[in-house]
Amino acid sequence: MDAKPEFGIPMKVEEGIFLLKMPIPYTLDHINLWLLRDADGWTIVDSGFFSEESVLLWNKVLADFCNNEAIQKIIITHFHPDHVGMAQWLAHKTNAPVHMSQIEYLTTQMACQDYSEEQKLVRCQYFERFGVGQEEVIQLQNRIGGYVVGVPEAPISYQRLVDGESIIINHEAWQLLQYSGHSPGHICLYHPERHLLISGDQVLPNISPNISVQFNEPEADPLADYLDSLDNLSTFSNKMLVLPSHGRVFKGLHERLTALKKGHYKSLDQLRRFCQQGRSGLEVIEELYGNCLSLFNLSLATGEAMAHLNYLIKIGDMSRTGDAVYEYKTN
Ligand SMILES: [Zn+2]
Repeated sequence: MDAKPEFGIPMKVEEGIFLLKMPIPYTLDHINLWLLRDADGWTIVDSGFFSEESVLLWNKVLADFCNNEAIQKIIITHFHPDHVGMAQWLAHKTNAPVHMSQIEYLTTQMACQDYSEEQKLVRCQYFERFGVGQEEVIQLQNRIGGYVVGVPEAPISYQRLVDGESIIINHEAWQLLQYSGHSPGHICLYHPERHLLISGDQVLPNISPNISVQFNEPEADPLADYLDSLDNLSTFSNKMLVLPSHGRVFKGLHERLTALKKGHYKSLDQLRRFCQQGRSGLEVIEELYGNCLSLFNLSLATGEAMAHLNYLIKIGDMSRTGDAVYEYKTN
């Protein structure tokens, strides 16, 4: 596919499958949503980040492109704001049910809640223990509540997507594949006969999806989960056309999976060497991602650096000492 999609203008990818590029307020400026022909209507996969612009574009797409035909289903791959942000707005507007995995649905509900004072304190400690400076920690605390900007309303009700089951779209069965690592129960949609994979953020063509330890589960090992998902996906056909949430539709799934794995193994090796002498979390962030990160990227980098360190701790290659501030040292 050589043509470049434009914001808000659906572009045909395959028979009955259209890419809808929508704007998002990140360095990564867009998300790919999918419009699938579904009998005499449409199924939507992912919804976009909530904004006035998204509302305008969706109104136009529903009226002009979908000709106000029935929206049968709204499928959401995972709870991140650029994916779920417009789901309730769309459900309200179209009367279509929202389909999500149970854990992504519940995580959306949780992410929309205000933090208690104690939650704020625990989040503060998560950054402090990792060696993030006081000033940055204060700034990061001031940004609490950012999620609801993109997701003003979580879906009120939903239909559950279950790993291994299928969902019928346009009389065709798409298999549901549920993976963890980037988010707790990310759904990919796989069409074996047509060799299509709607991969969400689980596999992206140009960037490595963020794999983060969250403040409320500081001992988690999401990188192990993510690497397992890449192994599982590599058992599928390499003939597949991959439809990702960011970047271009691509072929060569196996090569991409290998490159993503290599990237993580390279970071792990780098940390084994770097932590020969004891290091703080912040030093690890600077080693992996440099020292001029925006606040948003600093918070992503904290989670991702911790994911690599927790992985090394779990396999016995790294030790962590300290209480107020952690020190990491290679075994
Ligand atoms: Zn995501």
